[in-house]
Amino acid sequence: MTDALGGFIGKGIGVYGSTGSIGTQTLEVARQLKGTKVVALSCKSNAKLMLEQIKIFKPKYAAVIDESGAEWLERRVKANGLKTEVLHGEREAINACTAEEIEIVVNAAVGIAGLVPTLQFIKNGKDLALANKESLVVGGRLVIPEAKKAGIKILPVDSEPSAVFQCMQGNDKGSIERLLLTASGGPFRGKSTKDLSSVTVSEALKHPTWKMGKRITIDSATLMNKGFEMIELHWMFDIPAEKIKVVIHPQSIVHSAVQYNDGNIIAGMGATDMKVLIQYALTYPIRIPNKFARLDLAGQALSFEEPDTDTFKCLDLAYSALRSGGTYPSVLNGSDEAAVQLFINGKIGFLDIQRLVSEALSDFKGNKEVSLENIMESDRWARAYVNAKVIG
Ligand code: MG
Repeated sequence: MTDALGGFIGKGIGVYGSTGSIGTQTLEVARQLKGTKVVALSCKSNAKLMLEQIKIFKPKYAAVIDESGAEWLERRVKANGLKTEVLHGEREAINACTAEEIEIVVNAAVGIAGLVPTLQFIKNGKDLALANKESLVVGGRLVIPEAKKAGIKILPVDSEPSAVFQCMQGNDKGSIERLLLTASGGPFRGKSTKDLSSVTVSEALKHPTWKMGKRITIDSATLMNKGFEMIELHWMFDIPAEKIKVVIHPQSIVHSAVQYNDGNIIAGMGATDMKVLIQYALTYPIRIPNKFARLDLAGQALSFEEPDTDTFKCLDLAYSALRSGGTYPSVLNGSDEAAVQLFINGKIGFLDIQRLVSEALSDFKGNKEVSLENIMESDRWARAYVNAKVIG
C-alpha cells in the first residue's frame, strides 16, 4: 500500500510456510518494514516455532497443517492469553492467507505442495511473492493464465528471477534478446563423470556460496535447480526457453542478467542474502532502506563459463521437458525429487539422479492436457517409477 505521494506505508501480508528458511527470513524483513502487518501465518508442522512467531507478530490467524501440532498450538496460544485464531489442516492454512486484510502472500511452501495454495491465493486476488518454484515449474501453464485473469502480480523472491525482474524495470520486454541465468556450478564444478561416480552425500551438500535446504543444495550440485529456474523464468516472464542462456558464475555475485537487442546487458547483483530480495518483493515498486547485508564490489573477481552439459545432464533434461510440454515438467520434478531423496538416503549414487530422471522422461507415456489432476498424477507416476526402479 502506498500513500498519495507513492511512499510505502506497509501492507497486510500472509506467510504460507512461515517456519522454513524463506518464511523466517520473510518475518525478519516484515519486522523492520514499518507499517507491515503480518495477518496470517501458516506452516506444516513446526508449531513450537510458530508459537514464538505468534508472540512477536500477533497475527489474526495462525494455521498448522499437521493436526496434532495445531491442537498443541491452540492450547499454548490460549494459555498465553494471545488472541490469534488457530486453524487446522491444509485447507484452513490456505484460507488463513486469503483473509481480507492481506494484500500479498509469500508462498514459501516446499515442493509441489505449493501449487494448490498458489492457485487459491491468485483466485482470491492476492498478489503473490513466489518462493515456491514448483508452482511455475510444474504448474506454469495453469498459474500464469489465472494470474492474468485475476489481475494480480507475481513477484519473484528467489535471487535469479528477482535479478531478471529488477533488470527489466523501465525497459521494453520486446527488446530482450536473452536472459542470462547464472549458476554457481555447485560443489562439483569442473569434475568429470568419473569423479562424480564416487562423490558422497556430504560432499554434495556443501554448496560453495548459498546456504539452503537439502534438496535444493543437491539440485544445485546436479544443475537441476538451474533447469527448474529456466522453466520458472520462461513462465514468469513469458520468454521462450531458447532465449534463456545458463552461464556458470562461481562467485554468485551476479544473480542473473538481461541482454537487450542493442547489445546492452543489465546485471542484477548483491550480497547472498535472501532478505534483500524478499523485501523488494514486498515493497515493489518502491525501495525502502534497510540494514541487511551489502556487497562490496572492490576486491571481487567475477568469472563466467559455459556449463558442462556433457557431465551434468540435468540442464538439458529440463529444456527437453519444457519442450515436450504437457505434464513432462511434472515428471521432471517428481522423478528428481524422488531420486534426490534416494541419494540423500544412501540408496543410489550421485550420477543415478540424472540417469533416473532421464529414464522417467523417456518412459513417460501420457503427455496429457495440463490440469491440476494430471499434474499431480504425473508427479505420482514419476515418483513411483523412480522408487520402483531402485527399491523394486
Ligand atoms: Mg536460485
